[in-house]
Formats: sequence, structure tokens, C-alpha cells
Amino acid sequence: MTTTAITTRHIAKAYGDFQAVADVHFDVYKGEIFALLGPNGAGKSTTIRMILDIIKPDKGSIEVLGGKLTEAAKNRVGYLPEERGLYKSVSVIEMMVYLGKLKGMAGKDAHKKAMGLLQKLELADFAKKKVSELSKGMQQKVQFAVTVIHDPELIIIDEPFSGLDPVNRMVIRDLLFDFRQRGGAVVMSTHQMNQVEEMADRMLMISRGQQKLYGAVDDIRKQFALHAIVVEGKGDWAALPGVTQVEPHSNGRSGALLHLAENATSDSVLAAIAQSPTMQIEKFELAIPSLDDIFIRVAGEDKAS
Ligand code: ADP
Repeated sequence: MTTTAITTRHIAKAYGDFQAVADVHFDVYKGEIFALLGPNGAGKSTTIRMILDIIKPDKGSIEVLGGKLTEAAKNRVGYLPEERGLYKSVSVIEMMVYLGKLKGMAGKDAHKKAMGLLQKLELADFAKKKVSELSKGMQQKVQFAVTVIHDPELIIIDEPFSGLDPVNRMVIRDLLFDFRQRGGAVVMSTHQMNQVEEMADRMLMISRGQQKLYGAVDDIRKQFALHAIVVEGKGDWAALPGVTQVEPHSNGRSGALLHLAENATSDSVLAAIAQSPTMQIEKFELAIPSLDDIFIRVAGEDKAS
């Protein structure tokens, strides 16, 4: 059995003269959450639409769940687009059963699965209500339930958390974690970097259709690590051997960012602090930039070029 959910090889797509995606090349594995990142207009939706066989790439090849995305294979995929529509004048359960049947489920199975999902999403009491009577957040949870009703092996979600409050965000997040745990593959396209840091195993960042960063989220963050340390505590940091510059740390708390000389290491600085009778540390860590910082740097470089 293959462990790869999506394989793309050098895909490209132009709209007329405009190259929306150029030479993008990545894999998504089963049992992972994969983030697709990029500024507006980067080519994320175009990439997703090629994966889903809504549009054809001009170049390159794509395999989904081990082959070409045939009609039968489409029933093993769940897709939640950013433009979301529900049939507002029918009941929640009727609509879910209908959409489950469209994905090849028997009515009885769809009903059972829908009720189970509504229970998990704390919406069981709303099963018989019209979709239009639900709040926006509730409708979004129903849309999520519809995406996974047929037990897909791969789900692709555009901006999974937009418009959700923190409690509902956690409910959806936990369902995505569950899905991953059971070996499903999740592709989420998002602008919200904190969610990528918290949830995604690997990521692809594209900008103006070009592949910029690809790999494990932790590795990418480490790749951008500064030769610097974040400390919190008490001490004359500037007096430490190996420290060339001290700045307030940008998280705004009591921390300081210590830039290190080329030959200094975090170990040598920590040892010097430990030997000092007057210094105290409450926190000591490598200065690894947030994905937000990395995103701004990479997308910004692109604008400048
Ligand atoms: P993203 O999802 O990252 O915001 P898109 O893939 O939607 O980016 O779009 C990438 C670029 O291609 C944008 O500049 C967009 O204007 C352009 N584009 C998207 N769809 C079409 C289309 N059908 N015809 C012409 N240009 C398009």
C-alpha cells in the first residue's frame, strides 16, 4: 500500500500569458497535515484545482491516492472550498444525507454517520433545524462534517478556520488531528501561520507561482534560525563573553535577544551565565523566527526582486 496521498511532479499552469503556477513539485503523505501557504494570488487555489482535476496542468504530472483521480477515486477525497455553499432551506440532516449519497453512500449509512458527526461537533440538537437557522460558525462546522462524511482518505480544505471562534476552532482542530491519527492526509491552505506552526507536519510555500519553501515545518524554521538566543531573567547580558549585541526581544515581555559572535555557541553562553553569581535565567532558547517572520521575509524578497 502506498503511503503517498498526492504526488506532483513539476506542474505548471498558465492562464493565457500569465504563469499562475510554475514548476511546483511536492508530495503529501498519508497520516500528515500538510500546509499550502502563500500570499494572495500565489497560485494555491490553482494548485488545489489541478490536484482535484478541476483544471489540467499544462506540464507535469499528478497522482492522487496512487493514480489518476478517476470518478471512483474522487469518492475517496473530501474537499472544502473557500467559497462554501449549503442548501439553506432544507434540514441539516437531510442535506448531509443527500451529500453523503452523492459521494456514493447508502442513505442509512449516511444518516448514521451524519448523526455521529453532529454529536461530535455538538450540533446533534440542530439536526432537524433548517440550515438557514444555524449561526455562521455552526454552518461552518456542518460544512466540515459534510467534507468528511464519506470517510475520505484525503481531505483538502481552504482556510479551515476562517470565521470560527476559538472554541469551535479547537473542535475542528481535534477532528483534523483524529483524522491524521487514523492515517488520513490533510492538505490545508491557509494564511494563519500560527495554525501551521501548531498543526502542520510539513508545508509548501509558493509565491507568484514559484515554489519557495518545502519540507518539515520544524526544519524550515530551524533553517532560518538566527545566530542568537532569547533569554529572560536578570543580568548584564552585554557583559557575557561571546555576546556582540543585546536587543529587547520583540515579543514585548522582559526578554532580550542576544546576538552571538561567530565563534560563540549557545552552550558557551549558557555556561558563562551559570558561572556568574549575579545572573539568573528563567528562559533560554535559540532564536528561531516564527513562520510569520519567515513568510514575510520570503514573500517580501519576492516583491523586491
Ligand atoms: P491563491 O489561491 O494563492 O490566492 P490563485 O491560484 O487563485 O491564487 O491565483 C493565482 C493567480 O492566477 C492570480 O494572479 C489570479 O488572478 C490568477 N488566476 C486565477 N484563476 C484565473 C483564471 N481563471 N483566469 C485568469 N487568471 C486567473
